[in-house]
Amino acid sequence: MIEDSFGRVHDYLRISLTDNCNFRCFYCMPEEDYDFTPASRLMQPHEVLALAKTFVEQGVKKIRLTGGEPLVRKDAAEIIRGLGELPVELVITTNGTRIAEMLPVLIEAGIKTVNISLDTLQPEKFFMITRRDVFHQVRSNIELLLQHKITVKINMVVMKGLNDGEIKDFINWTKHNPIQIRFIEFMPFTGNKWTSNKMFSYQEILNLIEQDFITLPVKSAPHDIAKAFMIPGHEGSFAVISTMTAPFCSTCNRMRLTADGKLKNCLFSDGETDLLNALRKNEDVLPLIKASIWSKKKELGGQLITNFENIDADAIKNRSMITIGG
Ligand code: SAM
Ligand code: SF4
Repeated sequence: MIEDSFGRVHDYLRISLTDNCNFRCFYCMPEEDYDFTPASRLMQPHEVLALAKTFVEQGVKKIRLTGGEPLVRKDAAEIIRGLGELPVELVITTNGTRIAEMLPVLIEAGIKTVNISLDTLQPEKFFMITRRDVFHQVRSNIELLLQHKITVKINMVVMKGLNDGEIKDFINWTKHNPIQIRFIEFMPFTGNKWTSNKMFSYQEILNLIEQDFITLPVKSAPHDIAKAFMIPGHEGSFAVISTMTAPFCSTCNRMRLTADGKLKNCLFSDGETDLLNALRKNEDVLPLIKASIWSKKKELGGQLITNFENIDADAIKNRSMITIGG
């Protein structure tokens, strides 16, 4: 069992497969000509599997693949198939561009839920955010997943003045589609130009939706980081990930392994533990994992405050989101 000093048991591992991506979302990537980590410094497929096995032996029940864009990695299929053999719930967060070609592998590995990032339903705005003209490809891949009865969750990062005006359009999408929209509060990371006035908070999101819809809270699972709601008459549902204004730290069970094999005990931690180097030197990684999680801070990596107006984003010591693995 992997536990921290506050008695929180950690049984959910998020593995970043790469910091490479075929999109350029400005809120995630520090700059357009960002240098991706060379392949030799990334965990190789057998190393991902060896580390994942160590975590599973210690009680990890769920693994999420993320990135960067996990499905742009050339050996993604090999890694996904390998992880599919482990006795865990395997899920993935993706920008949705490579779903059509990877679907057989996802199904073979037993993946039943896919989170797709989609911040707008307008093709021009999609291009503005991602710098890629593939809105329709992502939309048709979402349909493909639904046709295959795979649960689809849509991640929408809400940014004031950019896409907050589309919140109701996303809710309307849930009327005849069994999808869950996850509205995410915009978070500060190294180089992402976060300012508090771009934040559209959980309460603002809910107030806006409740102008036109009746919302009913849904009881959340013990470690769920989203506040979930249903709307009577809608096939789908929505949830809000209120990391900035109402964090879920007290029940946190998450650990993050970066693509270069560093363990982060919190999304906002300022430190990390090098597991890959230890593994390559044939050292036992378990004591490193246990020590890292034991040293986890009580809330928000000890760096952020929920009074978000007073956050100085430049003073936060962290990686950019794309190099952490969201
Ligand atoms: N490429 C994949 C994707 O876009 O889904 C997986 C990696 S991405 C870093 C994972 C999630 O983090 C996405 O849903 C993305 O919208 C979210 N994200 C990235 N930067 C963020 C930020 N500054 N605040 C909130 N969410 C962010
Ligand atoms: Fe790439 Fe996902 Fe980051 Fe967008 S949010 S740049 S798709 S990793």
